[in-house]
Amino acid sequence: MQDFMRWLLRCSRCGTAYEDSASRWRCDCGGVLDLEFMPSFRPDLLCGRSHDLWQYREALPVGDDIVTLGEPTTPLVPVQFGAGTLLVKQEQLFPTGSYKDRGAAILMTHLRDLGVSCVVEDSSGNAGCAVAAYAARAGIACDIYVPVGTSPAKTAQVEAYGAILHYVPGTREDTASAAQEAAVGSTYASHVYNPWFLHGTKTFAYEVAEDLGWAAPDTVVVPAGNGTMLLGAWIGFSELKQAGVIDRVPRIIAVQAAACAPLVTAFDRNLPDPVGVIAGDTVAEGIAVASPARGAQMLAAVRASGGRFVAVTEHEIRDSLDMCCARGWFVEPTSAAVIAGALRHAAQASPDERIVTAFTGHGLKAAAKIAPMLTHRERTTNAG
Ligand SMILES: *Cc1c(COP(=O)(O)O)cnc(C)c1O
Ligand SMILES: [Zn+2]
Repeated sequence: MQDFMRWLLRCSRCGTAYEDSASRWRCDCGGVLDLEFMPSFRPDLLCGRSHDLWQYREALPVGDDIVTLGEPTTPLVPVQFGAGTLLVKQEQLFPTGSYKDRGAAILMTHLRDLGVSCVVEDSSGNAGCAVAAYAARAGIACDIYVPVGTSPAKTAQVEAYGAILHYVPGTREDTASAAQEAAVGSTYASHVYNPWFLHGTKTFAYEVAEDLGWAAPDTVVVPAGNGTMLLGAWIGFSELKQAGVIDRVPRIIAVQAAACAPLVTAFDRNLPDPVGVIAGDTVAEGIAVASPARGAQMLAAVRASGGRFVAVTEHEIRDSLDMCCARGWFVEPTSAAVIAGALRHAAQASPDERIVTAFTGHGLKAAAKIAPMLTHRERTTNAG
């Protein structure tokens, strides 16, 4: 971390540069903004530091006055599934129960540095929980917009932190529009648009590389909703490669639910932008995003990494959830979708390929949705 500094924002579409400010969240052309930031991180700097998110401070675009709930570095645990062994990062262990805390901690630290006193955010649940928690920690007032039908544990969590909750009927995109209107005159603390969030989620890549002895895995398998883990991984691994810490960026396999797969379709047709889709029903609520604002960047990152997008069926998600739970991990259906995608990849990978993925969110967040999914399960004693 540095003394309080300002970095430039640059439009990913037209290249226009902007001074950082609490009110600007996209380019006048409608493009998304990226942060012009060069980390000065070296692995030897970690010597003697406590193992938490902030140990990578030279890679974080924030000052020293941090907003923290005590974010751990999460364990990378080998888990044996039928198709092979996955190295699964335990992202459900964050303070609010999902990896969104990586982004929210950096974003709220930055917004408090800017002197912001109230924020607005929209979310399918977990990003709202994370922003509400870190806003509470920072003493910043918070309004969270969610779609009608969001898991009750998540909405209860948002309200418990003292945020004001707004239900929006219609699609996930309708929820985003409602928040963007409300953000006029407030600050839009968007996990999708605000690039500081991605400079928080990128610590996923730093931790994975550190866990592997400052090396990249062959493959990382990540969710592809709005792409905060995907783009964070891309930024983090790219920074480490540029610094000469690792020698290549891993192949990124990005997972969508077949019921809502605008990026899979675009990838398969070789298109630069997501394809418009009507979202069907999926238990994977965390990745049900029909028009991801950073979709073009997600497609470009996955292509540049030599990876691909995969769509998993509802049946595969349920099977995957059963397998995770039977091995002792109670995770969200959305997390099970990511594991289903990783198993698809593992089934055709070489046996010595190192595949890293994540349990993205805790099952307690979606217990009410999970319970009815398990009713037809037979008693199993052999988890394997
Ligand atoms: C947010 C979230 C995802 C999807 O991440 P995106 O950033 O939208 O791609 C997956 N799983 C869980 C538990 C999440 O909270
Ligand atoms: Zn622009």
